[in-house]
Amino acid sequence: MYLSKLFIPLLKEIPSEAKIKSHQLMLRTGMIKQSSTGIYSWLPLGFKIMKKIEQIVREEQNKIGAQELLMPTIQSAEIWKESGRYDDYGEEMLRIKDRQGKEMLYGPTNEELITEIFRASVKSYKSLPQLLYHIQWKFRDELRPRFGVMRCKEFFMKDAYSFDVNDEEAKKSYNKMFFAYLNTFKRLGLTAIPMAADTGPIGGDLSHEFIILAETGESKIYSDKRIFDIDISKHSSEEKSIQDLRKKYDEFYAVTDDKYKKEDFEKKVKKENQLVTKGIEVGHIFYFGDKYSKPLKCSVDLKDGKKVNVKMGSYGVGVSRLVAAIIEAKFNNNIMRWPESVSPFDVAIIPSLKKNDKSNQEKAEKICSFLLKNKIDVLLDDTDEHLSAKFKKFDLIGIPYQIILGSKSSDDKFEFKEVNGKTESLSLEDIKNKLLNNRS
Ligand code: ATP
Ligand code: MG
Repeated sequence: MYLSKLFIPLLKEIPSEAKIKSHQLMLRTGMIKQSSTGIYSWLPLGFKIMKKIEQIVREEQNKIGAQELLMPTIQSAEIWKESGRYDDYGEEMLRIKDRQGKEMLYGPTNEELITEIFRASVKSYKSLPQLLYHIQWKFRDELRPRFGVMRCKEFFMKDAYSFDVNDEEAKKSYNKMFFAYLNTFKRLGLTAIPMAADTGPIGGDLSHEFIILAETGESKIYSDKRIFDIDISKHSSEEKSIQDLRKKYDEFYAVTDDKYKKEDFEKKVKKENQLVTKGIEVGHIFYFGDKYSKPLKCSVDLKDGKKVNVKMGSYGVGVSRLVAAIIEAKFNNNIMRWPESVSPFDVAIIPSLKKNDKSNQEKAEKICSFLLKNKIDVLLDDTDEHLSAKFKKFDLIGIPYQIILGSKSSDDKFEFKEVNGKTESLSLEDIKNKLLNNRS
């Protein structure tokens, strides 16, 4: 792709309405455009990144056996009345009427709808457990939308739902999701820590918010910093291994504001291990038993003929929020570096172009087509700006690798720069291999 053809409306100035770096950068690089308060259009650069995040989220859900479906954004108010949440949800819910005057709403979440789908077809314990998910737009009329797509009204979320026959089985489903979340965030280049969260009126200890550290985060967190050293790569998706991993996390104190108790924190965590900071919630998992299956009468027949309400959990990931969260985590000293897994391009070719000398341009074209043939996604800067101006631009766009065609590149060795890392002189073959190896 040629930079001159890419629809990427770069802004020179930092937009005054943007208070945090992710919001500023997303507007400056034309990733998003506000269409009205808390509602955004996703432009090509931002959309491409979000789609890559979505795909990683999807793959990790599929790996634990969750099945994807797609529920609509518009729901009928009826099922929400059945669960009792129609009134409870309050003004965050966008309520609509169709032409017959039927009460509808733009879904803020999907517990009711998935329960309705489930109860209509599953009748026996033999069909359990089930894990179902979708990745769909949600709407919440937030009181104070802010920080761009971090807290907005319309956002893209993966929400999964588990159905089990009893608490013990349900915990297994919960732990599978716990495991999938850790792997998802790791692939996104993030260290997300599961923090015990408030479960509200239902009680129990089965709710975790997955938080990444960031000064601009809205969640205050208190933790034992040794929790960051847990190595998840040692654990497989086998039941026992997942259980062990859960245990490891449970050993360390890590809570958000709602659950924080000063005495507990000071008693359980030695002074030198105490970490009090802020973070961004990127995911939330929750076990709530029969909270919805009971009012919605979603039951299955057991072996002995008795009926039991299915035990459910729900599991959200803020896919669109993650785009901003990654920026908060990776934008340092005015330089952005997307993790390889979600970068909009694998590599940028940045030639120094002179008016009467076409050699760098020709070189750039050749390198570009060679890399494309090898399924490496390239962005070629074909503008005639000065190199220093190009570098500034690429500091914002955040592609992790650059091939710079200037004084340090010859006919067969090229200046290959890892953003925020080292610069080497490499042959095209070496560059190709290096970029392909990053994929694994
Ligand atoms: P928060 O505590 O941030 O208000 P929540 O607890 O209401 O979020 P959940 O219902 O658990 O959110 O939603 C799952 C995920 O969806 C959250 O972890 C977050 O990443 C994302 N999310 C929730 N609300 C928004 C929003 N207004 N804008 C963008 N992403 C959101
Ligand atoms: Mg939450």
